[in-house]
Amino acid sequence: MKRTPQFQPPKDADERRRVPPVICYPDDTLPSPDMAMLARARENMTLVDTVIVPPREAETFTVPAGHFFRIVSIAGPQVGDLNLWNAHDFSERFYSGKTRALHGTHLSTGDRLWSSFPALRPMATITADTLDWYGFDEFGGSVHDVIGTRCDPYTHHLLSHENYHHCCHSNLTRAFAAHSGQALADAEPMVHDVLNVFMCTGFTKDTHQYFMKASPVRPGDYLEFFAEIDLLGALSACPGGDCGTIHSSDSAVCFPLKVDIFKPENMAWTSPNLNGYSGRHKD
Ligand SMILES: [Zn+2]
Repeated sequence: MKRTPQFQPPKDADERRRVPPVICYPDDTLPSPDMAMLARARENMTLVDTVIVPPREAETFTVPAGHFFRIVSIAGPQVGDLNLWNAHDFSERFYSGKTRALHGTHLSTGDRLWSSFPALRPMATITADTLDWYGFDEFGGSVHDVIGTRCDPYTHHLLSHENYHHCCHSNLTRAFAAHSGQALADAEPMVHDVLNVFMCTGFTKDTHQYFMKASPVRPGDYLEFFAEIDLLGALSACPGGDCGTIHSSDSAVCFPLKVDIFKPENMAWTSPNLNGYSGRHKD
């Protein structure tokens, strides 16, 4: 947060400020998903698995490449923190920062979830978002952000001096450890910044601080993805509930979330190639 300036502006300060911005990563050369093909594929698909995520806990799920998965609100407004890994190589995982740089602060239909270096390829493509009507509200808030990392016990301890074990970071750590058979200490570094599913967030207009507000999600709403590669996912039902007041405690009302996995009919799918950069870092 910028505080009261200690230096006088130069004579040409206004001129410098008037320089128009340019988009860091113009997306007109970004490989775009075939949304028409995906729309046809999702017309005929069969539910093959369902995972229920209890409140203040996380669960893992696997999605074969060429399948769809939906994160569904059930019972009441609830935010979910999503991690994704390549099911065969956990070092390739969701890269929220680069996804943000490519698509913006909040994701919706047509946006993709990109993986970490050196793979940097689409892991999943969003194919339906029942909250896409929300847009950006008067506060600058929107849903499904890639700006908020995940709630974690370290920041909570920094701010409150309390130990709390059901932040999304800890929930995801326990779920990944249970799936992989690793000790918690080995599993923890595999947890990464998330897609904040259904969370309504933004930056305040005056200080540009990260804010949250009660999620507009209601039971029946869902966010749907197409798996570009074989995926291991983990979803935490955030202890913040709808994230309208507080998180990192047992105070907020929390609800379960559901993950449905669908197999489309007659889908022949080839996963995207790994990134084409030589990886040499010099000539
Ligand atoms: Zn959380």
